[in-house]
Amino acid sequence: MKPRYDLLILDLDLTVWDHEDASSLVPPYRRVSEGAAADSRGTTIRLRPGIRELLSRCAEWGIRVTVASWNRPDVVFPLLRTLDLDRFLWNPVIEFHPDKVAMVARILRALGPEWDGRGLFVDDREENVRAVAEAFERVDAVRFGVDVKSFRDLTELLVGGGEV
Ligand SMILES: [Mg+2]
Repeated sequence: MKPRYDLLILDLDLTVWDHEDASSLVPPYRRVSEGAAADSRGTTIRLRPGIRELLSRCAEWGIRVTVASWNRPDVVFPLLRTLDLDRFLWNPVIEFHPDKVAMVARILRALGPEWDGRGLFVDDREENVRAVAEAFERVDAVRFGVDVKSFRDLTELLVGGGEV
């Protein structure tokens, strides 16, 4: 089976998890269940259903998964570790500015000029999806919650089901 994409770039807030601003959390975190963590004030962050299955599928299929997130790296990298997501991510980019095009450009630079695959960018904000779709020929962009309703839909899309 050959997947349609070999690179998946995920937004975090309101895409990978249900929290809208992870930079407002206060570490340290503790894991409260398979799919949730709490910060030091008891605020809970829940992963979207299906994300773990997607990550293990991507590992199996050789799809690199990375992150482009507007957040404070010192607050959010420990959360990815607590949720045991960090080990599935290749070169995650978490920076405190809203320019997703700059973040995706950085990811593509890290891949190097020999990369000849195709990437898929997933974000809940329409302006980010539009900007990334326009900026990169080799990257398709879809809106989480609209174009793909769940991580199960996304898994389908990665292997060629559905239309972008
Ligand atoms: Mg978001």
